[in-house]
Amino acid sequence: MKVALFSTKSYDQCFFDAATAALDVGITYHEIKLTPSTARLAEGQDAVCVFVNDDVSQETIAELSRLGVRFIALRCAGFNNVDVGAAQAAGIPIVRVPAYSPHAVAEHTVALILSLNRHIHRAYTRVRDGNFALHGLLGFDLHGRTIGVVGTGKIGLEFSRLMKGFGCDVLAYDVAVNPECEEIGVRYVSLEELFSSSDIISLHCPLVPQTHHLIDESSIAKMKRGVMIVNTSRGAVIDTSAVIAGLKTGQIGYLALDVYEEEGDLFFEDLSDRVIADDTLSRLQTFPNVLITGHQAFFTSEAMSAIAEVTVQNLLDLEKTGSSINEVKA
Ligand code: NAD
Repeated sequence: MKVALFSTKSYDQCFFDAATAALDVGITYHEIKLTPSTARLAEGQDAVCVFVNDDVSQETIAELSRLGVRFIALRCAGFNNVDVGAAQAAGIPIVRVPAYSPHAVAEHTVALILSLNRHIHRAYTRVRDGNFALHGLLGFDLHGRTIGVVGTGKIGLEFSRLMKGFGCDVLAYDVAVNPECEEIGVRYVSLEELFSSSDIISLHCPLVPQTHHLIDESSIAKMKRGVMIVNTSRGAVIDTSAVIAGLKTGQIGYLALDVYEEEGDLFFEDLSDRVIADDTLSRLQTFPNVLITGHQAFFTSEAMSAIAEVTVQNLLDLEKTGSSINEVKA
């Protein structure tokens, strides 16, 4: 099996080399993203392996098909960057890693909440500068607060468990009830009730047409004044202009983002010596009550090992049996 792995970082190579050490799988690593114009790098390969910001549009798929590439393996859970219908029409199966470590993302979500609430990001630089004053660092007890969880799949469930551990009331909205959430005392409510009752709203749903800009001007208006919004799902679940407006009026009291709707050209790259042309992101970074991480919620060694192992197994299953339990269907 020959695989072209796109958007490679040194850490990807490390985990994929370990996962394939004893197998007949040869990986060619490319730092560049998969796009219609870079797809030709997959010539002669059986599969391409891609990540969250690779462009797996109809145009890319047509080029992969022309080159004889047989499989597309996503080394992530979300597949909003893939034209699944086009791949299916071209007869190219897509596989993904539906669950690697829900704990990694749930724990990062809690890290964001605690950091933002207790101003750890500001205290860190302040204390290093010899400033031990406490003004501006006032937080609130999580105990007894109401948390609204949108999307109670694998990550939403783990996150709910952690927040229950803090003594929070957890409300949830999902298109399908997760009985395990009900067992731990999560109460399902309408989206309206979740918006109006929650002190902290955490997003754990996929990006689909129904969740695109779920957090917009009208939903923000229904929330408690000073609400904290946390997004570790996908950037476009939030209308960024609307949250900026909400932050300016104080309707939104805190915002934590691990994902951003225009992250494609920014995240996972070191751009520290360049001018960032994205004015929206730059505006977000000016708020003291906004904390942004660059899509790192998944990034633990446990998750990276699982991602590499499941991705390789998915490809071997496709090769051997023609199908995989982790196939994405339209
Ligand atoms: P999952 O499939 O287990 O759960 C998703 C849940 O969302 C399901 O219960 C589903 O019913 C629900 N849902 C679907 N449509 C909905 C809607 N319209 N409204 C409300 N809920 C809806 O997925 P998961 O593993 O828990 O991952 C959740 C999301 O987290 C993923 O889709 C992905 O976008 C994101 N994610 C981010 C990172 C990161 O590093 N930041 C890592 C992994 C996953």
